[in-house]
Amino acid sequence: MDSLRALIREIPDYPKPGILFYDITPVLGDPDGFADLIDAMATPFLDAGITKVAGIEARGFTVAAPVAERLGAGFIPIRKPGKLPFAVHRQDYQLEYGTDSLEIHVDAVAAGDRVLLVDDVIATGGTAAAAVELLRTVGADVAGFSVFIELAFLNGAASLNDVTHHALLTYD
Ligand code: AMP
Repeated sequence: MDSLRALIREIPDYPKPGILFYDITPVLGDPDGFADLIDAMATPFLDAGITKVAGIEARGFTVAAPVAERLGAGFIPIRKPGKLPFAVHRQDYQLEYGTDSLEIHVDAVAAGDRVLLVDDVIATGGTAAAAVELLRTVGADVAGFSVFIELAFLNGAASLNDVTHHALLTYD
């Protein structure tokens, strides 16, 4: 995990003053780092009976789609408003730096699907909580939340309530 941590670039005052942004693009751009990241995020859920992995636009897609493939699961996109072409459910939520909404296709989940939610960073937890809410609205059994980076000082995991979360790296 130290090699992954070393690849993360910390950018002060992005996208707004006072935010320390954890940039994962150097991890994604490093062939060994990217492979290690996907392995580490997928491995705890190999025997969890996951049938679908949900990813949150846009950075979440870069991690969630390869984790889905690694688990032999399908992929569900959770997107910003107006991006999904079919009928959707929408959920509003608070960001660390603003407010936003997420949408999911109404038919994203089939009966009996066990869904793993995957994202790059959990900060305040608003985004992940909104995604869990959307998944449950469409009937998913949310089996867990796998995240690369947890900003523990923001206590975002508390808003996930009963969803088991697994973070690779924690920043205090
Ligand atoms: P939150 O809803 O506050 O947990 O924010 C999580 C989402 O915002 C994640 O999808 C991240 O991509 C992004 N995000 C929030 N804060 C940061 C940060 N300090 N560094 C990198 N990404 C962040």
